[in-house]
Amino acid sequence: MKKGRILSGMRPTGRLHLGNYVGALENWVRLQQEGWENFHMVADWHMLTTGHEDTSRLQSDIYEMVLDWLGAGLDPQRTVIFVQSAVKQHAELHLLFSMLVSKARLERVPTLKEQIRDLHLDEQTISYGHLGYSVLQAADILLYKATHVPVGEDQVPHVELTREIARRFNHLYCQDRPPVFPEPEVQLTHFPRLRGLDGNRMSKSVGNTILLSDSPEEIAARVKQAYTDPKKIRAKDPGRPEADLSELDAEGRPLHAGCVVFEYHRKFNSAGAAEVARLCRVGELACVPDKSQLARLLADGLTPLRERRARYAADPDQVRDIVADGNRRARAVAEATMDEVRAAMGLKSSTELVK
Ligand code: SF4
Repeated sequence: MKKGRILSGMRPTGRLHLGNYVGALENWVRLQQEGWENFHMVADWHMLTTGHEDTSRLQSDIYEMVLDWLGAGLDPQRTVIFVQSAVKQHAELHLLFSMLVSKARLERVPTLKEQIRDLHLDEQTISYGHLGYSVLQAADILLYKATHVPVGEDQVPHVELTREIARRFNHLYCQDRPPVFPEPEVQLTHFPRLRGLDGNRMSKSVGNTILLSDSPEEIAARVKQAYTDPKKIRAKDPGRPEADLSELDAEGRPLHAGCVVFEYHRKFNSAGAAEVARLCRVGELACVPDKSQLARLLADGLTPLRERRARYAADPDQVRDIVADGNRRARAVAEATMDEVRAAMGLKSSTELVK
């Protein structure tokens, strides 16, 4: 007996980094092991909302990301791994839901406002598809009647919109029949947001990440560049592993927001982090050997993922078969939901449509 069904996806960005792992993938694998029914979607249509101009890398990015999912431990026997655009019912449900949501409601979605700010977009030129991407997310979730959606704090408003759409649909079309859609629950994922190695927001385009597929040598080279405490110049200088709140910038943020190497120790070396901090503070640990020790820990931790990934990468046909099978399983669930939706709305069923 499964605990419930979860739906979660990622935009295909190619090879994944540690931030993707800590922020989502690690949790997906844990939920799979705990006996949830996992549906994981490569959100390629979502990718187009902000990246429709150059799609030349889309298929290779999908393939590399799926390899990382499998490498991280998603088990295709237990988890449905599929590509959004291979299940056309997402588009149909998105269209039907788009009648139920006002433009003003979509403009209030906080993540849309953040994207406009972060990507320096002009609000007047934002596309119809981009404005409606949270409606597409609602269709993604409700198509599978997911009972739970694992999300970070920033995605909670999307699940709230999904619940509103489910309620509205059930209210309008299910007065004389059982409700079609459950109202999915938020399953809050608590994870420390990992900074990039340079101390800034982690981003592959900046090159401040560690990829899950990096070799031990690549990891060591990347960790060598990590931001530490700029005041710890000699090995015996006492260091500041954590943020120093005694020196703030004009906006009230600490000038030294903490050593990134220590931040990674806390996440990936929970047993040893307190001792690292103690030795650093009293000047008995130097940054160079500490970076080497962190790089070794990360490389050891990522070895099973990298090796499993390499085994799948050696057999691309197997990977394609896994995705094709996931697409088939997803389509079967999606089509059953759509038949209920069409019947509730007085539309023709798929069998009537082909007559
Ligand atoms: S010794 Fe380690 S924790 Fe201390 S500043 Fe250097 S890298 Fe950071």
